[in-house]
Amino acid sequence: MASTRICVVTGANKGIGYAIMKEMCQKFDGTVYLTARDEGRGNAAVAELRKLGYSPKFHQLDIDNIDSINTFAEYLKTTYGGLDVLVNNAGFAYKRAATEPFGEQAENTIRINYFGTLNVCHALFPLLRPHARVVHVSSCVGHLSYVKGNEPQASELRSKLASPTLTEEELNEMMNDFVRVAEEGTWEEEGWQSSTYSVSKVGVSALTRIQQRAFDEDSRPDLVVNNCHPGYVDTDMTSHQGPFTIEEGAVCPSYLALLPNDVEELRGAYLWSKKEVVDWVNGPTPGPY
Ligand code: NDP
Repeated sequence: MASTRICVVTGANKGIGYAIMKEMCQKFDGTVYLTARDEGRGNAAVAELRKLGYSPKFHQLDIDNIDSINTFAEYLKTTYGGLDVLVNNAGFAYKRAATEPFGEQAENTIRINYFGTLNVCHALFPLLRPHARVVHVSSCVGHLSYVKGNEPQASELRSKLASPTLTEEELNEMMNDFVRVAEEGTWEEEGWQSSTYSVSKVGVSALTRIQQRAFDEDSRPDLVVNNCHPGYVDTDMTSHQGPFTIEEGAVCPSYLALLPNDVEELRGAYLWSKKEVVDWVNGPTPGPY
């Protein structure tokens, strides 16, 4: 079985993920997989990258489909026997003008951004080789301070999320609880903010800390997971309102994907777009982007 080093980027057919692909194709010593939920869009992006002189590979991966995730995991396992870098970039956001009820938005956004990312981790983490690097693309609104519904409930949620003993099961339960109270119309009374996207990214950022604690106990040495806010970027997601180019948005995720062996500081950390390390619990965030 080939022992090539392998990097995987999710949601890489456009936007920040596509720019992360360019960085990784240039700098990663190994094979880089562009994954996308749609084969046509994924292959078109691969063709663009080939025109630029890069040699990425493609595999279908829909983070919202467990069969797709398991098929990809099995493919990596049988073809390479392992994985060295995973960039969880795929994400979804309703537009501000969306008219779907808040509960429905909560269900879809949490399912894709939080549970989809988690399911990818569950399937691919067993394949991680020593010194593997995992990056979750969170957001500025994934900072803990965005949990700011009614008090004192919001403080209670923040303390729970910030707890160094929070478990994945407890976090899953909190995400499911948010969806439930969003459907019931009581999310603010329960302490949550009025942005389903923000809650999903707070979940991803909290998950990072839990996963690094597990990695620290893992028999495979030097497994590292970090998460970042990529900046406010000119992509379809922001309706092209963000001032950053996709290349600027790729700076921090690709930096974290390429961290050298045995890094000491950046383990379970939250960074901002220009690689600033931000205290996820206490802030402050650098701003403006
Ligand atoms: P885009 O909307 O341009 O790209 C999102 C990518 O994710 C697309 O490739 C999309 O695929 C893919 N995707 C969506 N759902 C799924 C799914 N179920 N399975 C696999 N892939 C999926 O957004 P950005 O490039 O702006 O966003 C990339 C990441 O950065 C996201 O996680 C986003 O939340 C985050 N982010 C972005 C910011 C910004 O300012 N742009 C700011 C902060 C965070 P498809 O083309 O098929 O829809």
